[in-house]
Amino acid sequence: MREMLQKHLDLIECPVCQAAKRLWTVSEGDLTDTRIANGKISCPQGHIWQVTEDVLRMDKEKSEEEMIFNDRPLTGFPSEPTESERGDFLMEFDKLTSEFIKFSEKPLIVKGNSVLFFKYMPTNEREIIVVHPDEGVLRQIQELVARKMMYHNVSFIRAEDAQFIPIESYTIHIFPKDVKNVKPDDFVATLNPTMQGETYWTGESSSLILHQK
Ligand SMILES: [Zn+2]
Repeated sequence: MREMLQKHLDLIECPVCQAAKRLWTVSEGDLTDTRIANGKISCPQGHIWQVTEDVLRMDKEKSEEEMIFNDRPLTGFPSEPTESERGDFLMEFDKLTSEFIKFSEKPLIVKGNSVLFFKYMPTNEREIIVVHPDEGVLRQIQELVARKMMYHNVSFIRAEDAQFIPIESYTIHIFPKDVKNVKPDDFVATLNPTMQGETYWTGESSSLILHQK
């Protein structure tokens, strides 16, 4: 059985030429037929992307830095809510995550400030691709995912949130900086109260808002 990231490569396009769906060549490093932990993948046009300790770096080609750690663990909240806001938010967040985890068989793509998502969502068997521009944040999420015994189902991609739009997926945007490219079925937790869509919950200060488009 193929594991992540090997399995999710079928869903991922080359950021440069968008041509490589299901046509990746995997080469070099610590890899097996089922899993890629360290190595390189290249598209048919020859664009080469590095995998380092389970993180696929798609923000720049041939990215050869050492593994990047996070020096300061993040809470996941974009700004600190009051205790009661935090409690209310997490209760609603738990209901919604439980719902959309059941909602579709397609892999979930999680973009934006996703520490909070992985901290508080219920443990589940869904396949998930996490996209974040900061590898330090991805390393923190790797630990959260490992603690929930979900590591075998999750892939980690370093890329800008707006970049990398895989096909056949259901996307969750957690506190996105901008919400371009949001599709009708996407779930959005946003700081922007002017966003279109149904509002599920707002804190007293309107600093935390959940939307489903
Ligand atoms: Zn390419």
